[in-house]
Amino acid sequence: MEESDSLLNYINGEWRRSAAAEYLEVINPATNDVLGQVPLSPASEVNEAAQAAAIAFEEWRRVPAPDRIQYLFRLKNILEENFEDIARTITMECGKTIGESRGEMRRAIENVEVACGIPIMMQGDFSEDIASGIDELMIRQPVGVCAAIAPFNFPGMIAFWFMPYALACGNTYIVKPSEKVPLTMQKIFKLLEQAGFPKGVVNMVNGAKEAVDAILDHPAIRAISFVGSTPVAKYVYSRGSANGKRVQAQGGAKNPIIVMPDADMEMTTRIAADSAFGCAGQRCLAASIALTVADARQPFTEAISEAAASRVVGYGLDESVQMGPVINLPSMKRVEGLIQNGVDEGAAAVVDGRSPAIPGYENGSFVRPTVLDGVDPDGSIAQTEIFGPVLSLIHVNTIDEAIKYINGGQYGNMACLFTSSGAAARKFRYEVNAGNIGINVGVAAPMAFFPFSGWKESFFGTLHGQGDHAVEFFTQTKVVVERWPKLWSRQF
Ligand code: NAD
Repeated sequence: MEESDSLLNYINGEWRRSAAAEYLEVINPATNDVLGQVPLSPASEVNEAAQAAAIAFEEWRRVPAPDRIQYLFRLKNILEENFEDIARTITMECGKTIGESRGEMRRAIENVEVACGIPIMMQGDFSEDIASGIDELMIRQPVGVCAAIAPFNFPGMIAFWFMPYALACGNTYIVKPSEKVPLTMQKIFKLLEQAGFPKGVVNMVNGAKEAVDAILDHPAIRAISFVGSTPVAKYVYSRGSANGKRVQAQGGAKNPIIVMPDADMEMTTRIAADSAFGCAGQRCLAASIALTVADARQPFTEAISEAAASRVVGYGLDESVQMGPVINLPSMKRVEGLIQNGVDEGAAAVVDGRSPAIPGYENGSFVRPTVLDGVDPDGSIAQTEIFGPVLSLIHVNTIDEAIKYINGGQYGNMACLFTSSGAAARKFRYEVNAGNIGINVGVAAPMAFFPFSGWKESFFGTLHGQGDHAVEFFTQTKVVVERWPKLWSRQF
């Protein structure tokens, strides 16, 4: 291994080589080329970061909020200047198209922008004369050292659902990127360094389970934001909470869309295809099941099959490509195996994306868009998060049947309805048990000033990422009751 290829940790304002016993290769999933080596940092390096962040916290929390956000304004400008470079890195290590990578970084920057409103967002409350001469006030103070643990599918954006708010509120921070896609965060931390944060305020430790466990156990770390699969989210939530920390843990998904007979079929198909096959289906808001109601069945099945078959698949740096590879070869094999399970359970692979030949990218981890028709609603494929470009079609007779099916599911990340009926839309919004709802929208990703509201097994915790929820999560309230001497309060 060339030392120059190995990634570094950023602790206490310094780039440090890890003493890890093990390194993993970072792979370009389109070509299978090795892009770098990532250390699986030992717990001791997380502990160093936590200690540095705890020391830095004592000063950082005293920097006035209007001054803290100046760092974020600088960061926003530096991110804009390096926008294309970061987007290319995302595509290279994660596989998504360059347009999707740009969209990811746009949302990341939007979170920085919103967090610049902290002087207003973290304001407290004041009640004068709760009794004669007695006032009561509530102030928000930072909680201390906070950490994010990120998944592979958004190498740039996920940390930004949390970190800008945490920093703006006066906390110090540690990021543990996904070990599958650590290059983007390495670049972003060079930019955080340029933005001039004082040493120890922002830290990054690469690694996997050992690093995560160290975050969950370190007493100085007071709040943890996790995004990843449901089993790990549950684990992180329970172990972190048992250690007395605040934890918000976003998990997996199996997102349904309903297509009503009165939907605009051309628009619905285009949007549903982008939802199911965009980011190669590796998006926690990807449509995974389409429930067609009554007469929507035939036109939607035909149109979505055509859209799937004609999607341009290849290397995401090529601007004309509409879908890239999945993250790695094991993931490709897993997705192909799940498609076979669906067929074994009686579905018809009306578009079968297995073993595609992508000219020039024969070593890549590609699965082409796949449509499974007549999926058994109770079968394993209808319940399993595939996390690949596979859309399962289930046919029902009424919207009530569709909503009942959705509400019986394990996850609650997103549900979408395609219709031209206001009554159907209102009913759907009112009755569906999911936290992010789309009406004629296929990826209902909340803007940075709304919470990312997963429900059920898609989220463990109370306060979500982004916007006001993040400010609540990254601050603790302090209530003060003050009695003033009679002379000062003019009571006689
Ligand atoms: P993952 O759960 O495998 O990994 C997420 C993080 O947890 C990584 O940093 C990893 O190092 C760490 N980790 C993995 N196994 C661990 C273990 N046993 N103990 C401790 N830490 C561990 O998830 P992934 O494959 O990187 O990402 C895909 C998943 O993330 C999908 O399920 C997807 O739905 C979900 N996701 C959810 C959201 C959301 O907002 N709900 C957003 C993006 C991704």
